[in-house]
Amino acid sequence: MAEKTRECPSCALEGPSDASECPYCGYEFPGPHPRWQVWTAFAVAALLVWPLLRLIDHLF
Ligand SMILES: [Zn+2]
Repeated sequence: MAEKTRECPSCALEGPSDASECPYCGYEFPGPHPRWQVWTAFAVAALLVWPLLRLIDHLF
C-alpha cells in the first residue's frame, strides 16, 4: 500500500504527499525546482555571463 501522506519536517503533522507546501504551517516541501534553486541558478549564470560581457567589451 502506497503512502499518500508525508510528515512535515517543520510541524511534524501528516499532510498530502502531492502538496507543494504544508497545509498546516505553510512549510514549503523541497520539490524538483524550488524557487531558491531557480534563483541560485540564475545568479550563478549571471556571475558567469558578466565577466564574459566585460571581456567582449574589452576586446572590441
Ligand atoms: Zn507543517
